Amino acid sequence: MSISHRFGCDPCARQGRRAFLLRGDPEGRDNGIVRSCVHVLRGTRFRVRAFVRTVPWARAAIPLVMGVLSILLTQSSSAADSRSEVQPRIRVRIAHQAAVLRFHGVDIAVVDAFTRLPLLPGPVDEVDVEAKGGRLVVNRLPLSAKRIRVETPAVFVQMGRRDYRGAIEVVLASDGLTAVVHTVLEHYLYGAVASEMPATWPAEALKAQAIVSRTYALRRMMESADRLYDVVDDVADQLYEGADDAFQAVRAVRGTTGIVLTKGDALLDARFHSTCGGMTEVPGLVWPKATMDLPAVRCEDCRASPVHDWRTSFSGDELASLLAPEGFGDPRVEAVDVAERSASGRAVMVAVRGKDARLLLRGNDFRRRLGYARLKSTRFTINHRDGLFEFRGQGYGHGVGLCQWGARGKARRGMNVSAILRAYFPGARFGRLASQGGRWRIIPYSFVQTSLTDGW
Ligand SMILES: [Zn+2]
Repeated sequence: MSISHRFGCDPCARQGRRAFLLRGDPEGRDNGIVRSCVHVLRGTRFRVRAFVRTVPWARAAIPLVMGVLSILLTQSSSAADSRSEVQPRIRVRIAHQAAVLRFHGVDIAVVDAFTRLPLLPGPVDEVDVEAKGGRLVVNRLPLSAKRIRVETPAVFVQMGRRDYRGAIEVVLASDGLTAVVHTVLEHYLYGAVASEMPATWPAEALKAQAIVSRTYALRRMMESADRLYDVVDDVADQLYEGADDAFQAVRAVRGTTGIVLTKGDALLDARFHSTCGGMTEVPGLVWPKATMDLPAVRCEDCRASPVHDWRTSFSGDELASLLAPEGFGDPRVEAVDVAERSASGRAVMVAVRGKDARLLLRGNDFRRRLGYARLKSTRFTINHRDGLFEFRGQGYGHGVGLCQWGARGKARRGMNVSAILRAYFPGARFGRLASQGGRWRIIPYSFVQTSLTDGW
């Protein structure tokens, strides 16, 4: 927090106490919130209530007109300091169904998420939050609040072994504690890119990941207004292992600030996966409800991936128990066949047969039941020998959109970020986030006037 946002507390001064207020968010921007005051902490909470106000949060998403997208996202608005840069903010779920959450940091304040009033008698360096008897218990103090914010004037707060930038909201749900970090989208992307792609990979591949990750996150933000969070921190959305600021990832995010992929009038629903194994997939064949219009494309650049070719085996008994939740009733699987294959070579439908039972299921559901990590993709062939089913396959992941290992290969061949993304998202265009009167718009962006090899 900038020192300029630290100021004296008048009530304290009148009583001869040396005290101060901290104002601003953890990134140091003055958002009008008074964060801590010795005066408040000594019990005369209501006298300083006038200093505490809630940031006007705005949240909604609207579709767009005439090729220019317009979205209104959660953002910190700073009436008190118009010089502060307003940026979209994202809410990332970083824990759920937890019994205890431990925070470490500097001068941590725990405040009510709605009133922003302090809930602890003073700033602390360690905070334990527990779910006990239907209540939140913070540092052994039972609270009536069900939703709290853990804030620090420092840049990072640690939860478990990971550092996070921004305030962390903890919510008491019926199944335990849910933790959600509220942070600036671009800062989230530093960690997401570093978590999703090794920092040692070529800069153009990291930039491609940054643009795809940003586009993906914005889509989720537009669809999650009525939820507690926009994205989760695991592969269900994209990996986010905290504020891991590998400089190469930060450079890739900053080098592409605000750049997104669009198609027609909309923000593209950009997806990515580890390795396509030779050809990407059409979204509708992976997710029946997908509305994305994206062709499958050939990819010869992911051959260096350690999971370009793989094999794994299952016994008939094992397959039967893994498929039982899908309704397979026999104790042993006797035959597995790909009933329908896509043009990219992936199993769209899989037929499973036992002595009596028959099961026909989507390739993706089959893979989910056998385990995403073990059956790495649906691009496989099956050999049945001596009671063992051997799957030989190519690639890792669903196969839609950006092939990460392919992006690495293309970058190593000298392709720049624009060419890499155009290869995996044919027909997509580039857009750039632009703030206008508190609203976020996405305006067309062209690479034409800029260098194609380095910073834009
Ligand atoms: Zn590939």
